[in-house]
Parts: sequence; C-alpha cells; structure tokens
Amino acid sequence: MAEFDYDLLIIGSGPGGYVAAIRAAQLGLKTACVESRETLGGTCLNVGCIPSKALLHGSELFEEAHSGALAKFGVKTGKVELDLAALQGEKAGAVSDLTKGIEYLFKKNKVTWLKGFGSFRDAHTVEVDGTAHTAKNVVIATGSSVTPLPGVEVDNAKGVIVDSTGALALEKVPSHLVVIGGGVIGLELGSVWRRLGAKVTVVEFLDQLLPGMDGEVRKEAARLFKKQGMELRLSTKVTGAVVKGRKATLTLEPAAGGAAETLEADCVLVAIGRRPNTEGLNLAAIGLKPNKRGQIETAHDFRTRVDGVRAIGDVIPGPMLAHKAEDEGIAVAEYIAGQIGIVNHAVIPSVVYTMPEIAGVGLTEEAAKDAGHAVKVGKFPMMANSRAKTNRDTDGFVKIIADAETDRVLGVWIVASLAGTMIAQAAQAMEFGALSEDIAYTCHAHPTHSEAIKEAAMAVRGKPIHM
Ligand code: FAD
Ligand code: NAD
Repeated sequence: MAEFDYDLLIIGSGPGGYVAAIRAAQLGLKTACVESRETLGGTCLNVGCIPSKALLHGSELFEEAHSGALAKFGVKTGKVELDLAALQGEKAGAVSDLTKGIEYLFKKNKVTWLKGFGSFRDAHTVEVDGTAHTAKNVVIATGSSVTPLPGVEVDNAKGVIVDSTGALALEKVPSHLVVIGGGVIGLELGSVWRRLGAKVTVVEFLDQLLPGMDGEVRKEAARLFKKQGMELRLSTKVTGAVVKGRKATLTLEPAAGGAAETLEADCVLVAIGRRPNTEGLNLAAIGLKPNKRGQIETAHDFRTRVDGVRAIGDVIPGPMLAHKAEDEGIAVAEYIAGQIGIVNHAVIPSVVYTMPEIAGVGLTEEAAKDAGHAVKVGKFPMMANSRAKTNRDTDGFVKIIADAETDRVLGVWIVASLAGTMIAQAAQAMEFGALSEDIAYTCHAHPTHSEAIKEAAMAVRGKPIHM
C-alpha cells in the first residue's frame, strides 16, 4: 500500500491551486484539490476577475451606445435602455461556463476534488470536513479575502454597505455610490456603476489613486476619472458609517486629521485591500506562523519552513494577481515533480481594466531611481497614434523607463484603451532582457495602438517619428 493517499494535496482551487493541480497531474502526480466553495476557480472565477470583467464589458457597451459614441460612427441605436437583470445573467453565465470548465479539466486530468474545508492535522495530513487525507506534499493556495474597515460593516445581503462580492451583484443601479479605496477594485467597480448611471465618489486615504503604480500614471488616472465624472476625495479617510433603512451616512476626515464631515450614499463599496486566508487552516498544528501581514513566507521554490508544505498565490507575499498565482501554480508543481519551476517576480504585469485601461510592468520611474538607476524615459501620447486617433480613443500615453547607461528596459507603463493587451509585448521584451533600442527596431504592424510602444522606445533616445 502506498505510504500516502496522494503525491500532492492542494488546499484551494483558485488560479494558483487549480493550475498547480492540473500541472501536477500532467506530470504524473496523484493529485487532490480541496475546495470549500460550491464551484472551482476561487476568487478569480467566482467573485473576482471574471464577473468584474463581464460587468466592465457590458457597462462599456452600454456607455458607448448611450453616450452617442456609436452614433458618431454611424450606428443608430434608437432609445438605449439598461436591462440590469440581463447583464447580471450574462455575467453569471460566464462564471458558470468557466467554473464548470475547471471541473471538466479536473476530470480530464484525474485530479480529485475533495469538497469541503481543509485544515492541517500534521504536515502530511489534511482533514476535510472530518475525513483525513494524507499526502507526500501539501500546497497551501487558500487565496485572500476582503480587508474589513472597522466602523463600516459590510452586509452584502442588505446591499447598502458592500464589498466587491456585493458590488458585483447589485440588483439596482445606486443613485450615489461611495467607494472607499481608490485602488484597482474601487476604480473598476466604480467605473461599472458610473457607466450604468450612478454618481460615484471615491474616497482615498492617500494623496493619489492606485498606489504602487508609476507617479505620472497615477496623476493621469486621476485626471481621466475626474473627466469621466467621478468625484475624487483624495487624502481623506472614512471614520465611521451609520445605516438607516437604505441609506448610509459616512463620516469623513482629512487623512492628516481635521474637521469631520458627513456624506450620504445609498451604496458604499469597501475596497481597501485584501488579506491572506489562513484562518481555520490550523497552521499551529504544523508549527507555521504567518508574518505580520498575515502572509505565509516561502523560499524561491515555494517551500515554507515546514518540510513537505509549500504555498502559492495571494496567501504569500507579492502582488495579489491571478496570473502571478497561476505561474506560481505551474512552478510549484514542477518543483514537486523534481523539475525547476520558473517565475520571474520582477516581470509581472498588472492591469486595471477601466477605460482607458492602465497597465504596467517592471519598475516605476520612482522605484528605478530609488534603486540607484540613472534613467532615461521615453513617452509617447496616444493622441499622436494614428489608430487611436481614428478610433477616437486618444486618452493616455506609453512610458518606457530605461537604464541610462545600458539602455535596458526597466519598466513600461501604459494608459490606453488597449493597455492590458499591449503590456504583454513589454513583459515579453523585458523577460528577454530587451534594450529600448530592441523595441524601437522591432517592426510593429500599422495602424495599431502598439505602435505607440515602438514610438515611446524611440523617444528614449529623443527620436520618435510622429511627434
Ligand atoms: P483564490 O482565487 O482566492 O482561491 C482560493 C480558494 O481557496 C478559494 O476558492 C477558497 O474558497 C478556497 N479556500 C480557502 N481556504 C480553504 C480551506 N481551508 N479549505 C478549502 N478551500 C479553501 N486578478 C487579476 O490578475 N486580474 C483581475 O482582473 C482581477 N480582478 C479581480 C477582481 C476582484 C473583484 C477581486 C476580488 C480580485 C481580482 N483579482 C484579479 C485578484 C485575483 O482574484 C486573485 O489574485 C486570485 O484569485 C488569487 O488566486 P489564489 O489561487 O491565490 O486564491
Ligand atoms: P488596493 O490595494 O488595490 O487598493 C486599496 C486602496 O484603498 C488603496 O489605494 C489604499 O490606499 C486605500 N485605502 C486603504 N485604507 C483606506 C481607508 N481606510 N480609507 C480610504 N482608502 C483606504 O486593493 P483593492 O482595490 O481592494 O484590491 C485588492 C487586490 O485585488 C489588489 O491587490 C489587486 O491586485 C487585486 N485586484 C486586481 C485586479 C486587476 O488585476 N485588474 C482587479 C481587482 C482586484
């Protein structure tokens, strides 16, 4: 009889866990994945990336039709009305198709789904709703959950103060949505409900939106979201909320302290970040303690301090992004199978799927300077890109940060309608160690938004053509 039930048992079936499970099975490991949710796919497929992108797409189509943008190109639509139930239905369909797709892939690859909540008995034994399962290797891929804001209690069922999960499921367009947190979730979901007709106010503690992004990008984002009609209350904190019936009254103060004021809303979205899921795992049983931020620390091969136990995805340090979790899922399975897994954490793109999209990879200009690089920066506005001009979507720019001595590309930042697609080219170039000159001398198809990347690379040497 085998010593263990499984070669590998993964706790959590998000993009980290399910990808690790499939790769491990492909590599011949007997694999199980524990998931307590009704469906596979984790935050990303159920209440994150996928449903938010469905609502972003639908609301973008609505705004295009409603705002006259289509009419400008000769598409007459007549009276444009919103059928929110149909939009929510389409979103649910996308989620259902994709989560069932993972279930199919598990069956195809002979990955066992252990349905229930997993917790450790020892480093090689995980209990799932009372039944013990043993494995030679265990991977913790339990992801993250919404960070609560003291004094502003979320109640998604009531729908007045909600988190991202609640904001994805609203059955009525709010009159006034206050978003607490000017990060990725606040701006994406704030955009959805603004496009569908809500007045949106974003309250952000810091003096700029989107912490961690390049300074010029953050400024441009604030300018564009204001232009679109969002009210931004920067350097402001929410200190409390009172809900009466279907109304919330928030108390606001300047972040640095000062006179309080109140703000009324019929919907409040709390989006101040996410925290790792370790509660209930019984980490004490294996002697594993999360760090001060609640994350599980790992080595380059995702080993924790406990033999046989590794961790990946949102539960470990690094950006909380689905593609980062997926790449770690592949790498951890490859390590466990005796291969070398590779994740280049210096080149992980991030994208905000607003309109225009906002994307970046590598260092910001500020971080590059802080790291001691002398930098050369090339910028090219979308206003001078022929395709963007033709499509009438000229907001934004491409910015390339290169090392002044070696010309090596250190970071690329893009604000453009197609930034999320364009950034892949920059990530690949950086993965190959590109110089800005390499990008400048790569032939780009015309007319495409991506030509702005080539022009920004030419601008690093001060010689773009179309400016
Ligand atoms: P998760 O996806 O969180 O999955 C963990 C799973 O483990 C969950 O299903 C949970 O139920 C399960 N679990 C936890 N503990 C246990 C246990 N003890 N036993 C059994 N099961 C357990 N990222 C992007 O890259 N692009 C986007 O566009 C994007 N949009 C987002 C939009 C929203 C609204 C949100 C909230 C997040 C978004 N993210 C996006 C972030 C992305 O969802 C996460 O980074 C990603 O899901 C992390 O993957 P993971 O596998 O680490 O964990
Ligand atoms: P975030 O970290 O992106 O933004 C949170 C914002 O809230 C920050 O700007 C922060 O300064 C602000 N904040 C914190 N406390 C505050 C307070 N008390 N009052 C006012 N503002 C406050 O977090 P998020 O938007 O909640 O997203 C969580 C995670 O999910 C992110 O790490 C992100 O990577 C991931 N995500 C990614 C995508 C994407 O890739 N497109 C989309 C959604 C979510």
